[in-house]
Amino acid sequence: MHTTTIRTRFAPSPTGFMHIGGVRTALYAYLIAKHSGGQFLLRIEDTDRERYVEGAVDAIYRSLRDCGLNWDEGPDVGGAVGPYVQSERRELYREYAERLLELGGAFRDGDAIRQKIPREGSTTFHDAVYGEITVPNDSASMNEGVLLKSDGLPTYNFANVVDDHLMGITHVVRGSEYLSSDAKYDLLYRSFGWEIPTYVTVPLIMRDATHKLSKRAGDPTYEDLIAEGFLPQAILNYVALLGWSPGGEREFYTLPELADAFDIRGISKSPALFDKVKLRYFNAHYIREMPVDELAAMIRPRIPAELDARLLAPLLHQRIETLGDVGDESRLKLRFLWDFSEDYALTLFDNKKAKTNAAVALGVLTHLLPELERLEPWSLDEIAALLTTAVERLELKTGAVFGALRVAVSGESATPGGPAELCEVLGRAESLRRVRIAINRLEQLGGVLDEED
Ligand code: GLU
Repeated sequence: MHTTTIRTRFAPSPTGFMHIGGVRTALYAYLIAKHSGGQFLLRIEDTDRERYVEGAVDAIYRSLRDCGLNWDEGPDVGGAVGPYVQSERRELYREYAERLLELGGAFRDGDAIRQKIPREGSTTFHDAVYGEITVPNDSASMNEGVLLKSDGLPTYNFANVVDDHLMGITHVVRGSEYLSSDAKYDLLYRSFGWEIPTYVTVPLIMRDATHKLSKRAGDPTYEDLIAEGFLPQAILNYVALLGWSPGGEREFYTLPELADAFDIRGISKSPALFDKVKLRYFNAHYIREMPVDELAAMIRPRIPAELDARLLAPLLHQRIETLGDVGDESRLKLRFLWDFSEDYALTLFDNKKAKTNAAVALGVLTHLLPELERLEPWSLDEIAALLTTAVERLELKTGAVFGALRVAVSGESATPGGPAELCEVLGRAESLRRVRIAINRLEQLGGVLDEED
């Protein structure tokens, strides 16, 4: 049996940061190769010097490695069919342009070389996603575009064909903006007498019903999403489903699971909608799945140094959807942990359901203060046990005791985590300081109320 090893490539132009469409193209190319034990290549397409952005190549390497899309061959890892940077392949393009002239597939136009299009008939090509497409060979449909510019550098339209052939690419995965040029690429392959690879054109990604996702319109790049606190595996999982469906209900896939499941037949022609709310949902899943100490390491750079990330992480584990939620008060009230304002409303201590009010809270806190002062060790279990004992001793509702301490240490009526967790995160000194502030203020309030009597 004759089997060809599948070889795919991601061929970004170093023109800026990695956009979401780029991540998806890279991912699909990777998955098609890995699904059948093939090779995934990285090729840098830098022949358009005007659009070249310094640092963009490193950003591409970083983003791909960050999400585990490791390439088998590429500029920095080498391989048998290099170099993998187009600007280092200049001589090759000239050589092949000359050969194409001899074969009658091109003509000279001054210092440039243009593609020769036979003007009669039509060209039919096949795309794995969009099917069979026929384009008339007339000048309105196919122009005799430049292949080699007068500066000796190739255009994309020429370089992609030469490189994909020389690099043994079997499946060309790319965005739908290239679909209209595939007929011209077919003509080039035929002029050279080369085997035509399988085109796998992926659908557009939209920001809404009528607009493409666009950096200029403020849509995030991969790097932006990471900075906002999305996890690489969540981005990959979500992006995989933007234009591809595994069939069935399953949503969550790791990268190896995606490689197992991926099938070109599941790629859709219709545009896919990028939905950040859905991405948050995927991200929340991956946060909940991760070990809590891993989460602690990830939130450490996002919280003030005086807070212990190990103690805070369990509070956040089931509550945040992105790492960025940690600093977003509209999503999760946490600010009181490091930025405590002492003048919260004392009415927070009133709670009918827990049969408590400011006077009861003062009694609770006065009872708790010395107990907390001598508690050993200062741990979640010990603090919780102390509170349970206090509930029995004071013959109050649980809510009255827990609520009083919660308000005292947070200045909030609702908090992520109970008072014992908050005290543990805050540490003994800060917790006691806040309890004393509450006692002070409640005592003054009592004085005011007495005078009014
Ligand atoms: N350099 C092209 C781009 O970044 C690559 C297109 C392709 O994958 O062939 O859009």
